[in-house]
Amino acid sequence: MQDTRPLLLATDFPAVFRSKLETVQVNLGYLCNLSCVHCHVNAGPSRTELMDLATIEQVLTLLDTTGAKILDLTGGAPEMNPHFRYLVEQARARGVRVIDRCNLTVMFEPGQESLAEFLAQHQVEVTASLPCYSQDNVEDQRGKGVYHDSIRALQRLNSLGYGKDPALRLNLVYNPVGAVLPPPQEALQADYQRELSQRHGIVFNELFTITNMPISRFGAVLLAQGQYYDYMTLLRNSFSEQNLDTVMCKSMLSIDWQGYLYDCDFNQMLALPLANPSAADNKPQSRRHLSELLQDVELKGMPIVTGEHCYGCTAGQGSSCGGALEAG
Ligand code: SF4
Ligand code: SF4
Repeated sequence: MQDTRPLLLATDFPAVFRSKLETVQVNLGYLCNLSCVHCHVNAGPSRTELMDLATIEQVLTLLDTTGAKILDLTGGAPEMNPHFRYLVEQARARGVRVIDRCNLTVMFEPGQESLAEFLAQHQVEVTASLPCYSQDNVEDQRGKGVYHDSIRALQRLNSLGYGKDPALRLNLVYNPVGAVLPPPQEALQADYQRELSQRHGIVFNELFTITNMPISRFGAVLLAQGQYYDYMTLLRNSFSEQNLDTVMCKSMLSIDWQGYLYDCDFNQMLALPLANPSAADNKPQSRRHLSELLQDVELKGMPIVTGEHCYGCTAGQGSSCGGALEAG
């Protein structure tokens, strides 16, 4: 598989600096029951990397010491980490808002039969990827049978109160098929709401549109199909300066399955660690670990490590883990 990383390192992306830490995003490992075409972490059923319990305890200590109010769990399929439920219970006991980035179909994996009830019981916010409301588009990206299982999972979540009870938020994530920007979030949300309700009786809170990042598996597809430079030109030409103030890395810390730190999940996948003022370079070997941060929690004001892929966050209406950056 070709790698876009060497093409992304040199950049003229404007300097950005960290502000107050609000969200700790934890990648619990690369194990997943699916292997989607656009997956920026190259997750799949054969991956064995999973965060261990000692690192999970450090994440909880980080929540205590920083007072971060949001714990955003990602993967792979985060629920497949054997310590997922412990982490959720402990974070919720601390009053932390927990987001589970759920691929929906994981609910039908062996051992996950009680997952939906567990999430509801702990009022975990579910952010679920559903690349389209039509079967063909979903299965092109995610594989055969995924659409049917996703719909069943959404119906199950609805039956527990998700999308209806204000304490049980259910958000969906859309990312385009191919090398194009997502359409306007509000209009697409209205389409999703109408179609999912009419076709399947499904309700949800918000739709987040996310720009495909030119990294990992999607980056390799761009290179293989000769679309990389056109896509980068599209991202650069669609730069919107106002999105710079709200890029998610300003208030988020991303932690990999081994406890190493990054400004965001994309940098994590590109092995671009959090800036390390004590190192002369910012090579992967000078990456900083969670245990180090527990001694010194001051992140505010630190420069964010950027690359050409950052134009993916500022293109058009902007893109983040919470969808478009601009309202409307
Ligand atoms: S469900 Fe998510 S983590 Fe799993 S392969 Fe698909 S995009 Fe990657
Ligand atoms: S990819 Fe986006 S979130 Fe990550 S460092 Fe660049 S601008 Fe920030």
